[in-house]
Amino acid sequence: MAGIYLHIPFCLSKCIYCGFYSNPKSFAQRGAVTDYISALKEEIQRRRDFFSRSGSGENCKISTLYIGGGTPSLLSAQELSGIKEALCGSFDFAPHAFTTQCCGEFEFTMEVNPNDITPEYAKVLKELGVNRISMGVQSFCNEHLIWMGRRHRSSEAVEAFNILRAAGFGNIGLDLIFGYPALTMEQWRDNIERLIELQPEHISAYQLSIDAGTELEKLCESGAFSLPDEEICRGQYALLQELLGGAGYIQYEISNFAREGDFISRHNSNYWKRVPYMGLGPSAHSFVADTREWNIADTERYCNFYNGRERSLFENIIESEHLSEKEIFNETLMLGLRQSDGIEKGALSQELFNTIQPALQRFIKEGVIIEEVHPARYRIHPNSFFISDYIISSLFV
Ligand code: SF4
Repeated sequence: MAGIYLHIPFCLSKCIYCGFYSNPKSFAQRGAVTDYISALKEEIQRRRDFFSRSGSGENCKISTLYIGGGTPSLLSAQELSGIKEALCGSFDFAPHAFTTQCCGEFEFTMEVNPNDITPEYAKVLKELGVNRISMGVQSFCNEHLIWMGRRHRSSEAVEAFNILRAAGFGNIGLDLIFGYPALTMEQWRDNIERLIELQPEHISAYQLSIDAGTELEKLCESGAFSLPDEEICRGQYALLQELLGGAGYIQYEISNFAREGDFISRHNSNYWKRVPYMGLGPSAHSFVADTREWNIADTERYCNFYNGRERSLFENIIESEHLSEKEIFNETLMLGLRQSDGIEKGALSQELFNTIQPALQRFIKEGVIIEEVHPARYRIHPNSFFISDYIISSLFV
């Protein structure tokens, strides 16, 4: 079992909070997308043996494919099917890949921007074999969407959702953002309720953070913006858990909720379970055999290299690090405790586990961490998810 992530580094405009690598200017440049697709196909071809390092040999079938960005929905039908063809020619996909409607067998997610969804485009995605959609709604308040720098307006998100449903997509994930000063509790409640009304299969909600290199960071530095009080964010997170729980959504990770059935994000869950994955495209990360690799976050250099215009070393385009025993322990602990299932004791190095016992026992006594037996397992109490970063970092070795 393994996953592939494909990064499309184009957006039409940059949202003020966005720390993902994308370049709004390059999309407008003549030939930029064609040049990028050609480079991407070359990378796919050159890294076709990537999963042979996983140690699972023949069984290492690709069970999830995720096209993210940037804005993948800026690509045409022809560009998307060219990428798919290149992938199919280089990797061993799970049986029923690209034909199944059931994400349990093979999950193919694509991120879309509401503005790009038309009935024709939804049909293209369906024919391509996409069986899961992830769409950033972020808010139903137009004033807030404008402030965030989003391209779409509230009614367009609803319209896009309805088009996707009419096209037969039965697994749609929608995202919201909370934790910014203009968002009142009433508006946040309204955002959640309106999202629930649409009945998406999956909901992700992220607390706004100040990422390096973003417009928001500049606003912060100039004193024109500051994040709201922690208590306000905590209240908004609690309301999210309450309303989504009441509407039948199951929280399976700190920021992720899914309707009953088979609607968790398999791609992300595999990432949290440290299943091997390969990231293609600039800035994309890969993980195999306790080694992390990441592509250079520079589309021009990436394209120059893969399209043969730059005589550079492969090592200049991709960097890597082999994780130490402590790093593996911390990462396994962090990814495990972020999930509501928590982490099995057996997944951790026994020797290092012994060193965190005093802190762990303290959290268990405080009711912040729940200890289960048969098999021994630890999970953060849902009421303490909001402070999970603090809990997890306190347990790092
Ligand atoms: S559309 Fe998405 S990827 Fe592009 S800038 Fe906005 S948040 Fe970032």
